[in-house]
Amino acid sequence: MKALFLAATKKVELREMERPKAGPGEVLVKTGAAGICGSDMHGFFGRSPRRQPGLVMGHEFFGTVAEAGAGVDRGLIGRRVSVNPLVPCNACEMCRAGRQNVCLDWYLIGMDQVPGAFAEYVKAPARQLFPLPDNVPDGEAVMVEPLANAVHLISMAPAHSGLLPTAAIWGGGTLGIAILCVARLRGLRVVAVVEPNSRRAAVAKKLGAEHVLDPKTQDVVAEIRKLTGGHGVDVGIEAVGFPVCRQQSAAALIRGGTALLLGIDHPETSFDFTDLVRREIRLQCSYGYTPCNYREAFDIVAGRRIELEPWIDIVPLAEGQAAFDRLATDPGDRVKIALRP
Ligand SMILES: [Zn+2]
Ligand SMILES: [Zn+2]
Repeated sequence: MKALFLAATKKVELREMERPKAGPGEVLVKTGAAGICGSDMHGFFGRSPRRQPGLVMGHEFFGTVAEAGAGVDRGLIGRRVSVNPLVPCNACEMCRAGRQNVCLDWYLIGMDQVPGAFAEYVKAPARQLFPLPDNVPDGEAVMVEPLANAVHLISMAPAHSGLLPTAAIWGGGTLGIAILCVARLRGLRVVAVVEPNSRRAAVAKKLGAEHVLDPKTQDVVAEIRKLTGGHGVDVGIEAVGFPVCRQQSAAALIRGGTALLLGIDHPETSFDFTDLVRREIRLQCSYGYTPCNYREAFDIVAGRRIELEPWIDIVPLAEGQAAFDRLATDPGDRVKIALRP
């Protein structure tokens, strides 16, 4: 079968590889399409120790069950499915507490030594499957995984009683947009999305951001205060991973507010803790998603509760290099670019 290998820094290559076989408890999925994730881009740039040359990446995917291993319901064969690529051990302390996203022994399809979905076929445990309704467009089917990250992040926001809580989001990329959609479904008022790329900002506006702010020309924190009657937002969401965005997401909060931090581009950021302590600011990080979060994201997509199809491109796997190059230089207004074998 054909598969797209990470060949070297900034180079992916279509090569022939042996088609995997479904082992006990597993299925072989014929890939429908697989989205290129920011984490795959880290691998492409040679910045991910867990995505090294020789790997077939790709974890945001759906497809059709082609083969069922021993002990798996053969009725699944031919079903169109979304696959949760994050496989927890289900045995450790974290898993038993329902926090599989911080499992002590998890793996991800398309990372480390596990071949991913930038290939004609990909293997997965049968328990990771979610049968997709026919009316879900392919573009939205690849968004379940990014949305699962957004569902988890929003679940980390403290419950607000009374007034409609307000949020601001830093970043209008795939995750920023996914978070915007989930936040709106959960009844958060997204007062602002902070995004320097005007085409991405326009997408955020269209999807329900009340305002979009350009950090190159605007004092973002002052603007957010102005938009919230001087108070600041209840929740500041950082989906970029830059120190200045993290600092702003805390600075733009109302007293007692929560910064939800997801971006991991830069490892370090300094904060004025005198200010954070005095305003009783909560810094809450968010990582990955639990099986419950994935199920919720799947339900959002399967229930057609979001409309992202117009901003998603699916291109042939053979054009993988061009797709990665495009994401590296200018993704324009695309919320996601996915590859179809
Ligand atoms: Zn991803
Ligand atoms: Zn575990």
